[in-house]
Amino acid sequence: MAETSYRVLYRKYRPQIFGEVIGQNTIVTALKQSVKNSTFAHAYVFTGPRGTGKTSTAKIMAKAINCESPIDGEPCGKCQSCINFKTSPDIIEIDAASNNGVDEIRELRTNIALAPSSSKYKVYIIDEVHMLSAGAFNALLKTLEEPPSHVVFILATTEVYKIPITILSRCQRLDFKKISENDMTNYLKIICQKEKINCTEEALDEIYNLSEGCLRDALSILDQLLKSSSEINMDTVLERYELISTKTIDELLSATKNGNVKTIIETIDQLMTNGYNVQRLIRRLIVHIEKECINIKLKNQKKYSYQMLKKLIFSLNELYTESRINDNTYTMLKIAFLDSIEDEIKHENVRTTVTNQPKQMDIIDIRINNCFVEANKQALKQLLDFWNNFDKKTKIDIDINEYKPVASSGKYAIFVSEDESLVDLFNIKKEQIENFFQKSNMAIKVISVVEERWMQEKNKYKENIKRGVKYNYVDEPVIKPKEEDETIKQIFDDEIVEVS
Ligand SMILES: [Zn+2]
Repeated sequence: MAETSYRVLYRKYRPQIFGEVIGQNTIVTALKQSVKNSTFAHAYVFTGPRGTGKTSTAKIMAKAINCESPIDGEPCGKCQSCINFKTSPDIIEIDAASNNGVDEIRELRTNIALAPSSSKYKVYIIDEVHMLSAGAFNALLKTLEEPPSHVVFILATTEVYKIPITILSRCQRLDFKKISENDMTNYLKIICQKEKINCTEEALDEIYNLSEGCLRDALSILDQLLKSSSEINMDTVLERYELISTKTIDELLSATKNGNVKTIIETIDQLMTNGYNVQRLIRRLIVHIEKECINIKLKNQKKYSYQMLKKLIFSLNELYTESRINDNTYTMLKIAFLDSIEDEIKHENVRTTVTNQPKQMDIIDIRINNCFVEANKQALKQLLDFWNNFDKKTKIDIDINEYKPVASSGKYAIFVSEDESLVDLFNIKKEQIENFFQKSNMAIKVISVVEERWMQEKNKYKENIKRGVKYNYVDEPVIKPKEEDETIKQIFDDEIVEVS
């Protein structure tokens, strides 16, 4: 009972006046104005995606220009012309998709000169006009070159680039936009209220995604859903259209984040076994990940790394395009997720070297890390100047020519040497070296590594900076009293040597 009345929502809610056309305000305002001022063109091209209101608007326009007393550019709905509009022989609809239109256009050319039978204007609405054959276009062009004053053409098309330029140049072109999510869901809400349908906001968003901005599709989806229940929620939509649930998407993303390969493979295999439409699946993943990305930047949510989501959304987008010609989309979908794990885990590894607790890092790790916190070229240049102009008489237990400063922050400095044993010597004598710096008013902590290690550290640093990882100071482990005594003794001894 209720079911049958619901089934025709699209017909039932077809807009009857300009004010009822959804999401095309600019076009509708311009057309109303032209009706009001009688300045409308004699040939229009309405172009735009399917289901955006082109044909409906064409019919309203035909009604409005024939209306005996239009109200603010809108058809009055009460005059003879408005009342008889649907059966008027002067409104001629041609569907160019049904055949190539040669016969229709030929007939059009024969009859076009005849005055309208009961209206002010004969209106020819040619749907899918890009489907006309070359011959039909030629015939149409001849008509457009010298159109009788009682004729208006409205050519509607989803593929305007297929229309010959000679035709286009004789028409006023209006571009219909894809209906926005906001416009569409607001409109669906109004219909739900009128029809006493219980539909959750979440489900409305999902209907919009499924319709891809096509109102006709959105209403037919609503019709379909109402066949099983007058209550529509997310589950109803997911079940009827075999869509992946938000919960499953979250599980997939968490598995990717945690490198849980088994879960990824099992989840995607399950979706494939259930026969989910893979294109619809990818589209839903893209829409979901887009929202997650925005949340990270907008609300600083840290549920998933932005890098991981970005990588994933790029792969999925590519996959979506290829899926039209590729049979292995499910396999590629797995790889897209697996690919994003590897990156994420690599990312984590790089980060842990910086944020690990001091007890897991030795003094070399800590000083390298601390040097990177504020390392800069200026500090390195100063250190190099100082190091190269070293006073040769200074007593120090290392041969300074064996060591080269490679990084400095002014507080920490890194020196490389060719030989592991030279590095060890430097690190054993580091307090002595620091003490030496101290005398020149340089409070600097030093460490040495071999060239190879330095190259690794430098690359890791560059990668971290690129990924936006911040370096923070790590405390050095507290030296046990015994060692401290020895250190002090060593420094003290050295000082005595220096002074003498
Ligand atoms: Zn009227």
